[in-house]
Amino acid sequence: ENMIPLWLKQRAFLTPNRLAIETESRALTFQELDESARALALTLATYGITSDMKVALLQDNTVEMITSYHAISYLGAIAVPLNTRLSARELAWQVSDCEAALLLYDNAHQEKVNSIVLERSSFQVCNINTLDQLVVGEEHHYLKAEMRSDAPHTIIYTSGTTGHPKGVLLTYANHWGSAIGSVLNLGCTLEDKWLAVVPLFHVSGLSIIMRSVIYGMPLRLHRHFDAKAVNEAIIHHKVTMVSVVTAMLTKMVEELGDQRYPETFRCMLLGGGPVPEPLLKVCLDKNIPVYQTYGLSETASQIVTLSPEHMITKTGSAGKPLFSAQVKIVDEHGDRVAANQAGEIVVKGPNVTSGYYKREEATQQAIKNQWLHTGDMGYLDEEGFLFVLDRRKDLIVSGGENIYPAEIESVLLSHPEVEEAGVVGMKDEKWGRVPVAFVKLKNKAKITETDLQMFCRDALAKYKVPTRFYFMDSLPRNASGKLLRRELVKRLPSDFQ
Ligand code: AMP
Ligand code: MG
Ligand code: MG
Repeated sequence: ENMIPLWLKQRAFLTPNRLAIETESRALTFQELDESARALALTLATYGITSDMKVALLQDNTVEMITSYHAISYLGAIAVPLNTRLSARELAWQVSDCEAALLLYDNAHQEKVNSIVLERSSFQVCNINTLDQLVVGEEHHYLKAEMRSDAPHTIIYTSGTTGHPKGVLLTYANHWGSAIGSVLNLGCTLEDKWLAVVPLFHVSGLSIIMRSVIYGMPLRLHRHFDAKAVNEAIIHHKVTMVSVVTAMLTKMVEELGDQRYPETFRCMLLGGGPVPEPLLKVCLDKNIPVYQTYGLSETASQIVTLSPEHMITKTGSAGKPLFSAQVKIVDEHGDRVAANQAGEIVVKGPNVTSGYYKREEATQQAIKNQWLHTGDMGYLDEEGFLFVLDRRKDLIVSGGENIYPAEIESVLLSHPEVEEAGVVGMKDEKWGRVPVAFVKLKNKAKITETDLQMFCRDALAKYKVPTRFYFMDSLPRNASGKLLRRELVKRLPSDFQ
């Protein structure tokens, strides 16, 4: 088996005094981070956590969250980061689907954890802020020094067009492949500092932690997104790279006004969803080095990235694959199509997942001969630049979070007074899109928009709760009875379609 040294241990050995993490109020070297991670690992061992067990994480963007990831590695266990915005019911489902032995959370989520435990209680819970941590002495036999490169590192839940979310398994080799693919494209110098303001529970945030420890590069951590604070970090705190989604960059550019970022700022990595062209034009005017990128949880973050020198000639493209990755476009039979022909985006590379946890069928459907079928539509031009098409109309991207209508519809349909339900995205200035629902009630039903909103709030994350409900006598369907969401969009006021 291919064994690799445990990343944080190796990093703390190679460059112990380099800055690892910086927040508004704290700074830690790799050695200090390593000491905290080992102490936490020993403490988690007292909860019975050992190799291959899953530890679910429900934490904000904090030093403790980063320490948790590394501590879990030290035990050879698997981290399952949870989206803190999900409802208690959604979270309880994920914690039990992955068979987590422990839910490690922080003070900010105490109330939610109380509700999660009411839903299901097949796991231990532990508040990282009130935990009595052991002190590390000498090397301890509980702690790993090396890992199999094909061992799972993380399980990340991602929603799809049908059913429950699926847990994407990412191995050490997947994260390594991602970090190396990224640095071969973007480079890295001793002056680099990457700002993590995207959630650490998403692959976008997690991949910054991986790059930091693998490259020996400081990570600046922001707990919440605040456009002014991000701009200040770039202008005054020597941040050279930052990962953002469209909704963030829009606010940053607005807040920036007539100011400019310093020359030393070299990468605005922009991904997660479609990017409106006017935003790119503004960035060009302000000399902001935008790198558009396309990636999924299944690819451990970026797999395709566009360099700024192509920003003008290839406006709207997500770029070319990272060095060790490949991209092709296929038709419904799985055959490659010609340049400029639209089809499904299919990818391959060392960063691509080997499958979904406990979902053999879904895995076989998605991965064929190591090629991952993304479900996204796009085309490659003659030079091999990828253009992602907004054809997967069902997907609602709201402030960087993906929302699948089917999930909301199935909650609505579980209401005793609802007969039919359809959900689509409505244009929204702040979030890009927000979900709205079209509902056919059962005969003589007496419920209001507020009733349905409350019902959804119990079951769904806030950002998934429809902002409006339209009541209809029937919903548009095709001959075989399939809901026509495109027709529903046309019922929205034209400014909001
Ligand atoms: P996730 O499930 O959170 O990993 O999100 C991955 C999905 O985000 C992809 O399957 C795409 O649908 C979408 N996405 C990511 N990057 C882009 C991009 N550059 N352009 C359009 N859609 C994107
Ligand atoms: Mg997905
Ligand atoms: Mg996303």
